[in-house]
Amino acid sequence: MRTVSILGVTGSVGQSTVQVIEELRGQGGEIAVEAVTAGSNLSALVDACRRLKPRFAAVADPALLTHAREALAGLNLEVGAGPAALEEAGARPSDWVMSAIVGAAGLHPTMAAVRRGAAVALANKECLVCAGPLFIEAAAKHGARLLPVDSEHNAIFQVLTHPERVEKLTLTASGGPFRSASLEAMAAATPDQACAHPRWSMGRKISVDSATLMNKGLELIEASYLFGFPSESIDVIVHPESVVHSFVHYVDGSVLAQLGAPDMRIPIVYALSWPDRAPISTPRLDLGSVGSLTFEAPDTAKFPALEVCRDALRRGAGATTALSAANEIAVEAFLDGRIRFLDICHIVEESLAALEGNGAASIAKSPTSFDEVAAVDQTARDTARRIAGSLAAA
Ligand code: NDP
Repeated sequence: MRTVSILGVTGSVGQSTVQVIEELRGQGGEIAVEAVTAGSNLSALVDACRRLKPRFAAVADPALLTHAREALAGLNLEVGAGPAALEEAGARPSDWVMSAIVGAAGLHPTMAAVRRGAAVALANKECLVCAGPLFIEAAAKHGARLLPVDSEHNAIFQVLTHPERVEKLTLTASGGPFRSASLEAMAAATPDQACAHPRWSMGRKISVDSATLMNKGLELIEASYLFGFPSESIDVIVHPESVVHSFVHYVDGSVLAQLGAPDMRIPIVYALSWPDRAPISTPRLDLGSVGSLTFEAPDTAKFPALEVCRDALRRGAGATTALSAANEIAVEAFLDGRIRFLDICHIVEESLAALEGNGAASIAKSPTSFDEVAAVDQTARDTARRIAGSLAAA
C-alpha cells in the first residue's frame, strides 16, 4: 500500500493525477490518499474527495472553512482552511506528494513535505524559481527525493543517465499560441486568446506564461536549479509538435531525448511509479501520423521573456525570486483585463531593474533563508503592482 497526497487537486495537473490514481487503482494498485488541497473551488474539491477518499482536505481561503465542512460532510474526512491547513496537508504522513498548487503559494505546503523527507513530484515550477537553492539544499538535507513532473524536466530526468558527462541540455518549447502571430496581434491579445494553447490544456496562469514564453524561461531556471547546470549549458528550441519533450547532449556526441504524446498523465505516472514504470492508457505516439518533427530558434525579439529569465538566472537567486513574484502579479493583472499582453514582460523587466539596488531587499544578493525569500517576493509583488497600476492608468 502506498500513501499519497495531492496539493492542488482541483487544478489541471491535480485532475490528471486523480485520473492516474484511479486508473492504477483499477488495475489493482493499492494507493491510499492522505491529503488533498484546493484554492477555493469547493465543487471540484468535493468531486476529488468522493473519488479519492482522502483522510484530510484543506482549502486555501480561511473564510471557506464552514462552507468546506458542510460541502464535505458525510465523506468521513477532516477539513481545514488557511495557510496552516495547506502546510498540514504537506506535512501529514504520505510516501509521495504531488506539488501542483500554482505559483509561490505552493512553496510552504511543498516544503512541509520536503522537511519530512517525502518523495515530492514537482509540477509547481514557481517553488524552484522562487527559492531554488534553498529548496534544493533542504531536499538534500532531509532526504526528500524530487521527481520532476514538468514534462521537459521529467524528460531530462528520464534520460539523465550520466549527469557528470553532460555537455548541455536543450529544453523544447511549443512556441505557444502566438508563435506565428504578429506583434500587433499580440499587443491586442485577449486573455482567452492567450490561454488557447495549441497543444496542452492547462491552468490559466501557466497558459499565459506559455504565450509570453515566460514559462520556458521559468523552466530554464527550474532546470538550472534542479539539475545543477548554468544558464550557458541550457538551450531552448521551439518544437511546435510537442512530441520531443527535451534533449540531453553528452560529451561523446550522443543526444538522448524522451518522446511521447503531449499528455501530463505520462510524466505524472512516471513520477508516481519511479523507479519502475506502470502501464497507463494515454494516447500512444504514432510517428507515422506525426509525419515530421520541426525545430526552430525562439524569436527573442518577439518573446523577450526568455532572455529576461536567462539574465535573472545569471544575476542570482534574489533575481529569480523577484522575477517569479513580479510575473505572477503581471499575469494576474493581464487576466483581470487591467494591462495588455505585451505589458507582462515589461512589468517583470521594470520590476527587476527597480529592485537591483533596493537596500535590504536588494535582489543583487541571494536570500539565505525562507524569510529573506518572502521579503524579496513581497517587495517584488509591491513593485510590480505599482508598475502595473501606472500602466493601467495610462
Ligand atoms: P491550475 O490553475 O489548473 O490549478 C492550480 C491549483 O492550485 C488548483 O488546485 C487551485 O485551486 C490551487 N490554488 C490556486 N491558488 C491557490 C492558493 N493561493 N493557495 C493554494 N492553492 C491554490 O494550474 P495547473 O494545474 O495548470 O498548474 C499547477 C502547477 O503545475 C503550476 O505551477 C504550473 O506551472 C505547473 N505545471 C502545469 C502543467 C499543466 O499541464 N497544467 C505542466 C507543467 C507544470 P482552485 O482550483 O480551488 O483554484
